Amino acid sequence: MQERADFPIAIIGAGFAGIGAAIQLIKAGIHSFTIFERADEIGGTWRDNNYPGCACDVQSHVYSLSFEQNPNWSRRYATSWEIQEYLLGVVDKWKLRERMRLNTEIVEARFDEETGAWTLTTGDGETFTARAVIAGVGGLVDPAYPDIPGMNDFEGEMMHTARWNHDVDLTGKRVAVIGTGASAVQVVPSIAPIVAMLSVFQRTPAWVVPKFDAFYPKWLRRVLAGVPFFLHTSRFVKYWMSEALGPIVFFNSKVLSGIGVFISMWNLRRQVKDPELRKKLTPDFQFGCKRVLVSDDYLAAFELDNVNLVTDAIEGIETRGVRTKDGTLHESDAIVLATGYKLGLANSPFPIIGRDGRTLADAWSHGATAYMGITVAGFPNWFIMMGPNTGPGHTSVLVYTEAQISHALQAIKKLMTENLKYMDVHQNRQDEYNAGIQKRMKYMVWGGCDSWYLDQDGSNHSLYPGFAAEFVVRARTLHADDYELVSFS
Ligand code: NAP
Repeated sequence: MQERADFPIAIIGAGFAGIGAAIQLIKAGIHSFTIFERADEIGGTWRDNNYPGCACDVQSHVYSLSFEQNPNWSRRYATSWEIQEYLLGVVDKWKLRERMRLNTEIVEARFDEETGAWTLTTGDGETFTARAVIAGVGGLVDPAYPDIPGMNDFEGEMMHTARWNHDVDLTGKRVAVIGTGASAVQVVPSIAPIVAMLSVFQRTPAWVVPKFDAFYPKWLRRVLAGVPFFLHTSRFVKYWMSEALGPIVFFNSKVLSGIGVFISMWNLRRQVKDPELRKKLTPDFQFGCKRVLVSDDYLAAFELDNVNLVTDAIEGIETRGVRTKDGTLHESDAIVLATGYKLGLANSPFPIIGRDGRTLADAWSHGATAYMGITVAGFPNWFIMMGPNTGPGHTSVLVYTEAQISHALQAIKKLMTENLKYMDVHQNRQDEYNAGIQKRMKYMVWGGCDSWYLDQDGSNHSLYPGFAAEFVVRARTLHADDYELVSFS
């Protein structure tokens, strides 16, 4: 493709999505892009999440870019450090730092219908003009801090899993962990052996399936590096296995859920011998309704003498610890908040002002929706990565992201080659697409319990109701007639 300096492109965010999009632009011969990253380093989730035990619970051969496969993963489920190193390597390989502005937070984006351009304003008041924007700002980014009375009174150390303070040494301390989600199941078994006392505050038990994590021996890594066919086959097999198991996790079927329950109960029984404890750790909601957790050692941690599962509701936090409703004060030197992320308008983290001066937050006031999770009517040339209804409960989110990158890339090529001013998805196509998504939700398991998957009104704007492969087939190809194409007059 001929280089077009008059077609500047902005990529917001230097996480997996932004890095992947940048590589695909380069591969398409498009170099007129700048990556804006608010932090001082690339990596997104994998830069921010480095609490003890942090790892991906999706196999690394699948949880990596398909066009940048890594034969050297040290284990089946890489740690956050290893994933971050992988991303750093990819950024170096593609020399992306030359096109990146770190410590540059975009605080406003405004579309101009006359010029077909977005004006991005940074936190320092600088402006940047972009003819197209790829927004890879991430879905699970900003920590959700619980609203527990007395939080500020606590005199010990308090930290969120997504903002781990490595200066705090937990060795020999009394530690409280609030929350029992995907982050907690990793941090609890990692710190249990070093702390004096660990109290885990569980509001809702989770279904936990075995991880069967393992190191990859050197010889295997050499084979994967030497014979790319094996590397691709490994990814292919792991991806299709996750798809094949998907229905157990996402369909609202008692029979399919039963398989998940069977596996989880086996996992619970092999790790926890005490029947009373097992009872407390057994969920009463349908398998898959909340994110299924994957761990070989979380449940077993509760068998340790210094680990205490607290199921009484929290009343408040006091100077010396956490008080539960039964009146007990659980004295603690440190509190770890494993309480998840703010979701809702995650893809609209700053004012994004489209046609007619309307903000994306306003367009999403009744829930975030987008066409294929990528484009929103009234916000032309703005391409969202990991957008509404593109999260999976059963496989790698990157499979979805790559389809979104492909869609955005085709749109950008069209804008450039046909010298279009902008393309704006038709509102009716967006509405039809989302009506279809919501219609399918009734066959999915997620409506049956409270989780971060759901908005306050109970609607699901987070997950894709189906197989990843199906989403990929739908989303990866641009259908131009779904868009209003506006030329320069
Ligand atoms: P989460 O799944 O939202 O879990 C938050 C936990 O905190 C829940 O157990 C919740 O209880 C509890 N909680 C929240 N507020 C509370 C309060 N006021 N009092 C007591 N308990 C409270 O958060 P997360 O574990 O950080 O995971 C979020 C998502 O990040 C995951 O679902 C996953 O998509 C992603 N993640 C992925 C990986 C990976 O390996 N790929 C690892 C970590 C996270 P309730 O259940 O009762 O609400």
